[in-house]
Amino acid sequence: NLTNRLSRVMKTIRGEARLTEANTQEMLREVRLALLEADVSLPVVREFVARVKESALGEEVAGSLSPGQALVGVVHKELTALMGGDLGPQASELSLATQPPAVVLMAGLQGAGKTTTTGKLAKLISGGDLLQNGRKAGRKKVLVVSADVYRPAAIEQLKTVATQVGVDFFPSDASQKPRDIALAAVDHAKRHHYDVLLVDTAGRLGIDEAMMAEISMLHEVLKPIETLFVVDAMQGQDAVNVAKAFSEALPLTGVVMTKLDGDARGGAALSVRHITGKPLKFIGVSEKLDGLEPFHPERMAQRVLGMGDIVSLVEQAQRNIDIAEAQKLATKIKSGDRFDLNDFRDQLQQVKKMGDMSSLLEKLPAQFAQAAGQLQSGQAEKQLRRTEGILNSMTPQERAKPELLKASRKRRIAAGAGVPVQEVNKLLKQFEQMQGMMKQFKKGGMGKMMRAMGG
Ligand code: GDP
Ligand code: MG
Repeated sequence: NLTNRLSRVMKTIRGEARLTEANTQEMLREVRLALLEADVSLPVVREFVARVKESALGEEVAGSLSPGQALVGVVHKELTALMGGDLGPQASELSLATQPPAVVLMAGLQGAGKTTTTGKLAKLISGGDLLQNGRKAGRKKVLVVSADVYRPAAIEQLKTVATQVGVDFFPSDASQKPRDIALAAVDHAKRHHYDVLLVDTAGRLGIDEAMMAEISMLHEVLKPIETLFVVDAMQGQDAVNVAKAFSEALPLTGVVMTKLDGDARGGAALSVRHITGKPLKFIGVSEKLDGLEPFHPERMAQRVLGMGDIVSLVEQAQRNIDIAEAQKLATKIKSGDRFDLNDFRDQLQQVKKMGDMSSLLEKLPAQFAQAAGQLQSGQAEKQLRRTEGILNSMTPQERAKPELLKASRKRRIAAGAGVPVQEVNKLLKQFEQMQGMMKQFKKGGMGKMMRAMGG
């Protein structure tokens, strides 16, 4: 990833006071490769690198920074701006300020996640959690309707989703025309004083004229205040063509990028933003109906840079973590004290407090998540309990000096925790890896994260 690439090159250009053509050339090449690897489309990469170069050259390298670090700073800043950071903090909000019902039209290919996202938005809006001018908007009366008459199962799916999130569903069926469904739904919403009407639509597997004509017609009939383009992050480069077609056919107001919980590297977000010129408003991070988050340009920039979603991780952690404990650990790591199994156990307890382990692990940078034991989602809590059981079966001295753990002690611990001896060995092995990582923390690689967590 980019951070690795850059830190390699960074070493070669230490100790220079200014970013120059010569000392940035190699790094800019790495930036270019990393963005391509993250699925950003080539024209966007070219333009971006040119922009970084322009704003980097001649830049003075501030006090304690190396030129490499300074350049990473420029890259991060520019990337954040390009992701929409330049639009201001409210760009990712839905605007629903209109004569009710505020109509939201969902557009996108089949399988992009329109129906799921309609349900997620319905939940957010009806639950009062939607942000307006930076504050929660309060509960709203929401109606959903499906104009997907090509697949009867699609209408049923929306009905199920509506029931799950507890909003009203306006019935439609496959024998109706999408236009009539739309008109009837708006009429019903007006007469029953709904604040918001979410309109789910049909999508095809590829871009086709009939679909584009239909969605433009729906747009004309509904006059939506928001027209959201829903796109699957896993589509990578293909997302670019789809985004282009939809933004030419429709006056889009925003983008929802789904399936960012997969291994998508987020580069598509940059391309789609660039092609449509419209802000990303939400990201889908789970199949579940609470898996929708407001889009944060800075976090997406970090994701593309390969830093993991450290900011949201830290936020999530701070909700529950015992700050004092974290500080103690951070101090210990910084001062170079030995990190032992007692610390490991303390840390596990904190991790447990952080809440949903699986979503947390997904946000960690890849190396860290790996070393943390390749915990699979769902398996995570179970594994955590077993690990804790093993640690609890050790004496404090054993935890302080794991090298004491010879075969007979391991057997005793395994029996105490009710696990096979191999599992004790595996834990010790993981712990060794973790100690290795702690050394890296000390060198400053992840120091930022630890400092942030330590407050
Ligand atoms: P539509 O054809 O555009 O209406 O797409 P659907 O809403 O039916 O979604 C297609 C598939 O993608 C379903 O299996 C959804 O559960 C899944 N899906 C949608 N959004 C997300 C997401 O953010 N994350 C994950 N993992 N799956 C999603
Ligand atoms: Mg659908």
